[in-house]
Amino acid sequence: MHLFAVDGLPEIAAGDDLAALIDARVEFEDGDVLCVASTVVSKAEGRSYDYEDFEAGEWSRDIAARLESITGDEKDPRFAQAVIEESEELIVEAPFILAVTKFGHITVNAGIDRSNVPDGDLLLLPEDPSASAQRLSDALGVAVVVTDTSGRPFRYGQRGVAVGWAGMPASRDWRGEHDRDGRELGVTVQSVVDELAGAANLVAGEGDGGTPAVIVRDWEFGEHDGSENLFRDEEDDIVREALRDWEF
Ligand code: GDP
Ligand code: MN
Ligand code: MN
Ligand code: MN
Repeated sequence: MHLFAVDGLPEIAAGDDLAALIDARVEFEDGDVLCVASTVVSKAEGRSYDYEDFEAGEWSRDIAARLESITGDEKDPRFAQAVIEESEELIVEAPFILAVTKFGHITVNAGIDRSNVPDGDLLLLPEDPSASAQRLSDALGVAVVVTDTSGRPFRYGQRGVAVGWAGMPASRDWRGEHDRDGRELGVTVQSVVDELAGAANLVAGEGDGGTPAVIVRDWEFGEHDGSENLFRDEEDDIVREALRDWEF
């Protein structure tokens, strides 16, 4: 397996044909997987906004005031408003906003980003990252994973995760296969798109590298059972359930 960044991509703006810009810089081979940072997918899809585009309501003003008193930093209620509008649910409102996006991904601030956003104050995640991945996959003829940098519970540090994917299953099902002692695996469903996203995000970096697109080469999903589920269903998510009742 071999990963490399696509060099020379320009600053991406609303309306850019991201597939064409990548295609012009890569000789794709059969079986390649393109991992692309959600930031540039969002920019191409015109998901960049200003604070003025959001009108704070009572709820967002309340959240901003709480966050301000906890952190001591000034908080613009219109940011909280953007998070509310991008979310299905806010699981936690303080000391940070943990949101369920409309497409099912759970992350801080609904993934709304303020880094690498020259044309606006805020960059929202793509509306439907798997649909974005599918469009890129159709145009390029390879599997596509749309990534974002995200925190995780229990551990310090952020890492790349898959927020959308197309052209390959999300997970590889190992159940029914055997370990080295012949014991049958009973539970392991490996989130392959997250593992690719993590590796690609390491190559892409987090700063001014200008390398949002990473090619995974000489790796294949293989003839295995797969699953499309990555975002845990509400009814078997005990962590989400517990956090709803938690008060800071
Ligand atoms: P996120 O993880 O999707 O939030 O994206 P990041 O802001 O961490 O950026 C990931 C990579 O993409 C970094 O190498 C950035 O320098 C790069 N990047 C972000 N926006 C652009 C862009 O418009 N053009 C290019 N060429 N690179 C970008
Ligand atoms: Mn991001
Ligand atoms: Mn990042
Ligand atoms: Mn193990």
